[in-house]
Amino acid sequence: MDGFILYQGPSALDGQPIAAVVTGLGRPSSNQKTGPMAQIYILRSDIHPMEAVSTGADASICGTCIHRGRIETDPSTGLRSNKGRSCYVTILHGPRMVYEALRRGRYDPLTPAQARTALRGRKVRLGAYGDPGAIPEAILTQAMGRVREMTGYTHLWRRFPYLSAFCMASCDSQADRDAAKALGFRTFRVRAKDEPLAEGEGHCPASVEMGKATRCDSCLLCGGQRKNAKADIAILIHGTGARNFVPTPALA
Ligand code: SF4
Repeated sequence: MDGFILYQGPSALDGQPIAAVVTGLGRPSSNQKTGPMAQIYILRSDIHPMEAVSTGADASICGTCIHRGRIETDPSTGLRSNKGRSCYVTILHGPRMVYEALRRGRYDPLTPAQARTALRGRKVRLGAYGDPGAIPEAILTQAMGRVREMTGYTHLWRRFPYLSAFCMASCDSQADRDAAKALGFRTFRVRAKDEPLAEGEGHCPASVEMGKATRCDSCLLCGGQRKNAKADIAILIHGTGARNFVPTPALA
């Protein structure tokens, strides 16, 4: 078994149909940054991820994340398109392949108890695409109960404080970071070019700015409070959407 459906049903964000798919159990992930960790993708189950990004339907799996960009409608054609997307995830790669495999029936659904067993002893990356907050809490917490190590990230930390147990709060400003820490999160902050680290932050050692010194499967610092580490992490904006990143007033 290379992967399975961890959850298929209404999004915890807006009730629209989503799927959370685990991959990389048999054939290890080829992701150069994370190394061979099991990867959990959270996708609209009824709309191709390219279309979801172009129409705004990705709100069901990404909420109000600022890196989604904005939807504009061409007045002459009525066609909608995404402008200003700054997310580092390349939709044409992992999300597209996982969605198309899902639609071909490649993945079988497991119960949360079965998922817990399948992930037992594994290193897991939660949210290779999509926000863990879109998965119902009871299903997610049961499935993650026996993993060996994990990394996880959420922009929905205000709405789902329970995620502090195993996710980093994704922050885009120091003001975000202060608010997330007040809720009990460790933080993972995207910083603009030339912006320094804040107090209590360390560099991501797998980042370009640190010479890609290691991979997530060795570092594993991004496990939220589960990791029992004090340092927060910061990384320079990166990926295909980096040119669209607009520093918030707190960063400017
Ligand atoms: S700090 Fe470690 S676990 Fe977090 S993204 Fe960087 S390499 Fe991965």
